[in-house]
Amino acid sequence: MRIDLHTHSDRSDGTTAPADLVAHARVLGVDVLALTDHDTTEGWDEAATAARRAGVRLVPGIEISCRFAGHGAHLLAYLPDPTYPPLVEELDRILEGRRSRLPATLDKLRRLGIDLAADDVRRAAGSAVAMGRPHVADALVTKGVVRNRKEAFDSFLRTGGPAYVDRYAAELVAMVRTVSAAGGVSVLAHPWASRHHHAALDRAGLARLADAGLAGVEVDHQDHDPATREALRGLAGDLDLVVTGSSDYHGAGKLDHELGCNTTARDCYDRLVDLARAAAAASGRSAPAVVGA
Ligand code: AMP
Ligand code: ZN
Ligand code: FE
Ligand code: FE
Repeated sequence: MRIDLHTHSDRSDGTTAPADLVAHARVLGVDVLALTDHDTTEGWDEAATAARRAGVRLVPGIEISCRFAGHGAHLLAYLPDPTYPPLVEELDRILEGRRSRLPATLDKLRRLGIDLAADDVRRAAGSAVAMGRPHVADALVTKGVVRNRKEAFDSFLRTGGPAYVDRYAAELVAMVRTVSAAGGVSVLAHPWASRHHHAALDRAGLARLADAGLAGVEVDHQDHDPATREALRGLAGDLDLVVTGSSDYHGAGKLDHELGCNTTARDCYDRLVDLARAAAAASGRSAPAVVGA
């Protein structure tokens, strides 16, 4: 069974529509697919309809922009009730932070001699609800300023880069609790990726998150080298955290991240689904189930 628990559609910064993502999973022999767009559940319904037709299991999820000890961290939330008010409020705040960042980014680019209009970025964002730096990057590609997203990040948009602007993110420990209260389970995405400052996400940091209810950590991810994966796998074992693996597929938006390039073991997936079921029962909320299971 091939299980990929972290993918993006064009409702955030992937380039594939949710239904096409499911179709692509089927072609590649991915049996279980989680849709985890940044900060939005917008793609869930379209993906669910496609999954029922294609015979692919779909795990509805969100990759939530968080902050821990002053640095960005991404939290994968699986199967939460998307109508739980504290979750809705936080996602709205994050999406508003994404929108209000754009003018400041464009100002910085202008000062660097690059005249990009908000409409150029909106056009590049297409059907995305979660607008972000990748769409600014796409607009820069269209304008011929850079050749691809990577070049746009390296030259301008990377964290701390010349056109970087910070934005609102949810407090990580509080968000782990919110996801549980919404009847879902949370997995920390790529905690030791070099792009994310992970000094605070050490043994003590992960133990604190586990105490708050974190269910797992994403170990097998493109941004973790083999030594990093082994160290993190060992730590996850010590803390009794579920280990996941996934592609973080973004369509044409990220190279060498084909769907299913990293996968999650069956027993780890089963444990997550069991934990979600228990969280849903404890929360008393009607959280979604895996589609097609
Ligand atoms: P934002 O959500 O606007 O803060 O932009 C961050 C997103 O950009 C990340 O979640 C990645 O999906 C993407 N990203 C970050 N670095 C790169 C890169 N070097 N090349 C392509 N995409 C990137
Ligand atoms: Zn992304
Ligand atoms: Fe991420
Ligand atoms: Fe991601």
